[in-house]
Amino acid sequence: MKIGLGYDLHRLVRGRPLYLGGVEIPHGKGLLGHSDGDALIHALIDALLGAAGEGDIGSLFPDTDPAFRGIRSPELLRAVTIRLRKKGFRVANADVVVVAEAPKLGPHFAAMKKILAPILEIEETALGLKAKTNEGLGLIGKGGAIACWAVALLEPTPLREVLGSLKT
Ligand code: MG
Repeated sequence: MKIGLGYDLHRLVRGRPLYLGGVEIPHGKGLLGHSDGDALIHALIDALLGAAGEGDIGSLFPDTDPAFRGIRSPELLRAVTIRLRKKGFRVANADVVVVAEAPKLGPHFAAMKKILAPILEIEETALGLKAKTNEGLGLIGKGGAIACWAVALLEPTPLREVLGSLKT
């Protein structure tokens, strides 16, 4: 088993849609970034890559590459999951903490799980999503940024699955 930790923070600015966990959330402000700015998925990706010994999101999807401009982060997560599978890993579980003063994220967790769990090829119960405020402190507390922490556990793909995929 391999464990990984990921962190990401993006500034919140007016005039951009807010994407978190693959879901567009009405807020009037969105996360600034080269991609869609989905800090939740970016933290998750770094946790997965860290566990697999595969570097980080910046080395895999450089923000200087026009190919990734405006790309939706679920696509990046899908690419990473496929990469892990090729290395002989599958995701056992993942757990995420989002630090955001606003908006309220709890009502959106079910929709996020519906998007993320199938990409990760795990049950929805194997994906933890939690939201915290920053108690009004600092840039996050003033509503100027959202930060995310994620941990992910990888386990070896069972031999029977590897053999099964060779047959087809
Ligand atoms: Mg990011």
